[in-house]
Amino acid sequence: MEIRWNTKLYCLIGQPINKSLSPIIHNNIFKTLNQNSIYLAFNIEEDEIKSTIDGFKAMGVGGFNVTIPYKKSIIKYLDDISKEASIIGAVNTVKNHNGKLIGYNTDSGGFLQTFYDNNIDIKNKNILIIGAGGAAYAIASSLAMEGVNSINIANRTLENSILLERNINKINNEIMTKVVNLSLNNLNKKKMDIIINTTSLGMYPLENMAPLELNGFSSNTVVYDIIYKPCETRLIRDAKAREFKTFNGMSMLLNQAILSQNIWGNLDKKINIEIFKKIEGILPNYIE
Ligand code: NAP
Repeated sequence: MEIRWNTKLYCLIGQPINKSLSPIIHNNIFKTLNQNSIYLAFNIEEDEIKSTIDGFKAMGVGGFNVTIPYKKSIIKYLDDISKEASIIGAVNTVKNHNGKLIGYNTDSGGFLQTFYDNNIDIKNKNILIIGAGGAAYAIASSLAMEGVNSINIANRTLENSILLERNINKINNEIMTKVVNLSLNNLNKKKMDIIINTTSLGMYPLENMAPLELNGFSSNTVVYDIIYKPCETRLIRDAKAREFKTFNGMSMLLNQAILSQNIWGNLDKKINIEIFKKIEGILPNYIE
């Protein structure tokens, strides 16, 4: 695609953004769609958010993504946010609606899409979430909105588990919640249907670590590690060795990007799966 005077600009803001795969994903989507658009990433400081998005408005960018650590702090600079983003309390996608910047959250939808695509019904399931950081909030909120049976939280810092539990109860007080310790000795492991790792344990430089041991869980347990670098973490290897069903973070990453493109109006939802398969084949070349 040739860059011309009318090439539409889409962006990513965050810090650091030097390992982000979003420019690869979005520019490959534009290439596949033969669309006259480009996606660029900008490493910005917190005190530059306002001037950056004022610039985006002035230049008429089509939309932008927001990554760590600005998913919460961006909200005060936007004209409006979707109901879902407001419940989650974080925005990762912004659309320029005729000069008004509207925030959305596609991390939660990107996460859930993995289950939809694999015909796994998560309603009434018992979930164990390891971690209570930003990703855990988006994931737990989406699970609470979907109406799972229980969400059990294990995290290094107990206070963060308690805050996440309160957040889940605010969204849906019918879901059973429990804060469990990392040794999991106060958890009924056999009852867990899905284990989700949202910590960075397993990611560089902690590749040799797993956030939990899988002994005691049922062989029907699904293990979802949202880390995508490496594609196969120690947790995923351990789960495969026990013949558990596994998912890595690649589908969440790709689906949140595809959902951003749907929001920006560039991509017809009917071809989401086709685009997913195409970009999924390209991405491993960019994972060191
Ligand atoms: P975050 O807000 O910094 O949260 C990190 C979490 O990991 C916290 O619960 C933290 O526990 C825990 N943790 C960190 N180091 C630990 C250690 N050494 N031992 C035990 N627990 C530790 O980060 P985040 O945004 O939630 O991201 C977390 C992970 O998810 C990263 O690996 C990221 O790449 C991945 N992610 C993937 C996607 C995707 O699309 N696939 C999207 C977002 C994030 P404390 O509360 O004790 O600090």
